[in-house]
Amino acid sequence: MRTKVIAGNWKMNKTPAEAAEFIMELKESVKGIENEIIAAVPFVCIPAALTASEGSNIKIAAQNMHWEEKGAYTGEISGAMLKDLGIEYVIIGHSERREYFAETDETVNLKAHAAFKNGLKPIICVGESLLQRDEGVMPEHIRYQVKVALLNLSAEQVADLIIAYEPIWAIGTGRTATAEQAQEVCKIIRDVVAELYSKETAEKVRIQYGGSVNAQTADSLFSMPDIDGGLVGGASLKVNDFTVIAGYKA
Ligand code: PEP
Repeated sequence: MRTKVIAGNWKMNKTPAEAAEFIMELKESVKGIENEIIAAVPFVCIPAALTASEGSNIKIAAQNMHWEEKGAYTGEISGAMLKDLGIEYVIIGHSERREYFAETDETVNLKAHAAFKNGLKPIICVGESLLQRDEGVMPEHIRYQVKVALLNLSAEQVADLIIAYEPIWAIGTGRTATAEQAQEVCKIIRDVVAELYSKETAEKVRIQYGGSVNAQTADSLFSMPDIDGGLVGGASLKVNDFTVIAGYKA
């Protein structure tokens, strides 16, 4: 049985002081929830968020990392730096990173390897554009993204990572995929993992849905057989909404 994992992606929101205040409030409201709860905060908020989350069931994650260990990469953060802070998860290949910062399937794969090398678990984002969906190439696109993202990772590593299916047309648009649409794609992703590795590995990997998840839509999405939780943007910035979403019960 896979444990549901609900991750908030704060994007470029909140100062360190605001992050600490938010986590202090959130940790009271999510007490006792048995799903895995993650808050992916801006880099500069990580120390304050980690301190605020002490003694709670909230894990703090990063939203990105570079694939190199160190060097002349102005403005970048390495996996070793995140690990040193005490981070467990890192989001990789979010569609906003792909769109605005020229990330590719190849750099996603490099980052996934670098994450594992540093003892971090990647949350790898994949998803199609509206054009790709309308033109009927969504399945090929998703399969290609997953295959390249996982290139040369071991079965043990794949079983330990999270794949977030995030249709680009649903991110920040208020337009959530239906539970059936999201399930269809999460099943495609699980099938690709089964083909590349084994059925056993595919049964272990956790696959999230992301794209305008809110307190009203979370239940129907998370109850689908291949959806193991969500990656939540806007609604993760509101304590009450995120608590309802994170508190999903089968
Ligand atoms: C996201 O940032 O990954 C996301 C899904 O955002 P939103 O929930 O706001 O659509």
